[in-house]
Amino acid sequence: MAEPEQVDVVVVGLGVGGEEVAGRLAEAGLSVVGVERDLVGGECPYWGCIPSKMMIRAANALAEARRVDGLAGTAEVRPDWAPVARRIREEATDNWDDRVAVDRFVGRGGRFVRGSGRLTGPGRVQVGDQVFQARYGVVLGTGTRPTVPPIDGLAGTPYWTNHQAVEVTELPESLLVLGGGAIGLELSQVFARFGVRVTVVEALDRVLAVEEPEASEVVAAALRADGVEIHTGVRAERVGHDGQRFTLSATGGAEFTAERLLVVTGRRAHLEELGLDSVGVDAGQRYLPVDDRMRVADDLWAVGDVTGEGAFTHIAMYQAAIVIADILDRARHARAGADPSGTASVVGGAMGAASSLSASGSSGSAGTVPRADYRALPRVTFTDPEAGAVGLTEEQARARGINVQVGFTKLGSSTRGWIHRVGDEGFIKLVADADQGVLIGATSVGPAGGEVLSGLVVAVHAAVPLSLLRHMIYAYPTFHRAIEDALRKLS
Ligand SMILES: Cc1cc2nc3c(=O)[nH]c(=O)nc-3n(C[C@H](O)[C@H](O)[C@H](O)COP(=O)(O)OP(=O)(O)OC[C@H]3O[C@@H](n4cnc5c(N)ncnc54)[C@H](O)[C@@H]3O)c2cc1C
Repeated sequence: MAEPEQVDVVVVGLGVGGEEVAGRLAEAGLSVVGVERDLVGGECPYWGCIPSKMMIRAANALAEARRVDGLAGTAEVRPDWAPVARRIREEATDNWDDRVAVDRFVGRGGRFVRGSGRLTGPGRVQVGDQVFQARYGVVLGTGTRPTVPPIDGLAGTPYWTNHQAVEVTELPESLLVLGGGAIGLELSQVFARFGVRVTVVEALDRVLAVEEPEASEVVAAALRADGVEIHTGVRAERVGHDGQRFTLSATGGAEFTAERLLVVTGRRAHLEELGLDSVGVDAGQRYLPVDDRMRVADDLWAVGDVTGEGAFTHIAMYQAAIVIADILDRARHARAGADPSGTASVVGGAMGAASSLSASGSSGSAGTVPRADYRALPRVTFTDPEAGAVGLTEEQARARGINVQVGFTKLGSSTRGWIHRVGDEGFIKLVADADQGVLIGATSVGPAGGEVLSGLVVAVHAAVPLSLLRHMIYAYPTFHRAIEDALRKLS
């Protein structure tokens, strides 16, 4: 085995979170090794957020064109998947090639190593026959992979995950979607709008089960209007494939067939691959637990989906900012200790980066490291209508024993909703803590549900008093003006 090479930081997994941490630390002057076994950038740009939102943009254009009738004349719509597939291949993913991302990282001063990284001791990472010893620590940004449920017969079939769904160039005639969460619903609506016969099978009693039940209802109705068949409370028991078609047998004797099967039942971190036992961390957990500075153990941080704090790119980026500040803080202290005069030129840019984060949180060891706070975690399901939510749902708030008030208003009863007419399905639902007089959760479903959400995120994040929210001015006639009505209805 090679002698360990001394570096400042090793980042294993250059997805959204890891790439940000590695790039910013390298830019700040630390010697950083970034390890990635697949594509730099991870799931989001190649098989997740970006290509799926390109698909949604195209499908929504079709839906809008179909709404011309009765509003603005007539429109004839002939869907064609070719421009969507081309855009994903050429604009989003460079044909699933990460050369640009690798060059960007190297251009920021990082050292790139292609391969699988594994801890072999505190601060020590092995990649093939190379071993790196990190002075300040190791960051794990290894993400998750799709879970494949243990359904009889499934493993041997050519089922799709989100990868094949995003890479598809020729659409199937029919598609079974196993899983009615955000990803399953977004992709179902896209394919249905392009003419695929889509059937969703969900084991729970409603789709989008983590959000408010009203959001599930509106989104399910919208998908059904697009021709999607939705079966809830149906548990898949067996999958077969005869070379041409899939057959899915479910509880109660139900049977579904389709040309393709998309499995989107969740994702899982693969901790068993990371050598965590060498640093005394239990690899038998579902995710890597982190503290509010993303620390897993001494000299070990984690960032992104692997932490289990929310599988969103914005969580990975938020956590990355904290990790960067914490490591820079450590580097500054270590170097100041080595140079008691304090005149060592410690990563000049790094100091700036660390202190620029200082305003947003409570103190770290030097008063500069922000702490993670997920109270106002926003999430958006990009169906049409979009379902945006922040903070607690009504049920979660009640389960915590909070004295809850709820305000609800339909978008269609707002002036803008009425003007919008076709496609105006949606609502605002507010969840308030009556004792504190603040919002602790909100849901915004509608044509721009994710955008309308932003004001509600500020309200929850900053704990803006309800009295202030009631006496601010809401532009007329916007969708977000429905928030004012929902505030009025809080009871
Ligand atoms: C279809 C789909 C749509 C989505 N849409 C959205 C959206 O609209 N908005 C949103 O916020 N989020 C969305 N997400 C979620 C988002 O993609 C993830 O939250 C985000 O990619 C997480 O980033 P990450 O850095 O934690 O991990 P990943 O992006 O998963 O990156 C982890 C990287 O680590 C690498 N790796 C793993 N183990 C090792 C190892 N041992 N050695 C070296 N490399 C390793 C992997 O190859 C991978 O590249 C979507 C996801 C999917 C699947």
